[in-house]
Amino acid sequence: MVSILVLATTNKNKVKEFQEIVGDFPIEIKSVADFGPIPECIEDGETFDDNAYKKALHTAKILGLPAIADDSGLEVEALNGAPGVYSARYAGESATDEDNCNKLLQELKGETNRKAAFKCVLSIAVPSGPALTYEGSCEGVILEEKRGESGFGYDPLFLFEPFNKTFAECSSEEKNKVSHRGKALAELSEEFDKVLIWLNQRLAEEKPPKPDHSEFENNDWSE
Ligand code: IMP
Repeated sequence: MVSILVLATTNKNKVKEFQEIVGDFPIEIKSVADFGPIPECIEDGETFDDNAYKKALHTAKILGLPAIADDSGLEVEALNGAPGVYSARYAGESATDEDNCNKLLQELKGETNRKAAFKCVLSIAVPSGPALTYEGSCEGVILEEKRGESGFGYDPLFLFEPFNKTFAECSSEEKNKVSHRGKALAELSEEFDKVLIWLNQRLAEEKPPKPDHSEFENNDWSE
């Protein structure tokens, strides 16, 4: 029986979020940080899907345990989907959230199509490779200046029109109900019993084959 699922992140908020989801299920969520330092995964995939899978598989292989990872970011229609998988480092490798927001405003200067969407992919992988994927997205528009103080990343520029608020003006409860990550997690939570069955099947397949005794079957053991 699967008893541990490793979360491929050291982010304590994400660990807490996952622990709340698995609540009553017979599985323990551990952070990768609980196992000490492991080699970093190079996130060089071309899609959120690629990166989430890469991170989950990397962790699962190193620790020999099933692992779950997420990848997320912002896609802007007028920028052909940029910043996409480069969301965290849009303005450079060591860019801050503020640098990234400023770069986005610069790129969209004079642009009237401000449509954008946050995307999130969750990937659950076993050490031998198979994986399950859950996705969530949230559509909005990019404002011409920041509004609100909470959240992180592009939240102050992302207007969620049904609330007429940016994500940085929303409480975390409000944001979690409609956000890309909230939706992907809600879908995972709804199906978590099936995920456990799937994990148990995959892990059973990974066990070394039982010794084959068929060659003894016709022996006469009476002597
Ligand atoms: P990660 O998947 O946590 O590594 O996030 C990648 C990057 O996407 C973050 O550094 C942010 O710039 C952006 N991002 C992802 N989710 C959000 C969000 O909910 N609000 C604002 N920015 C986000």
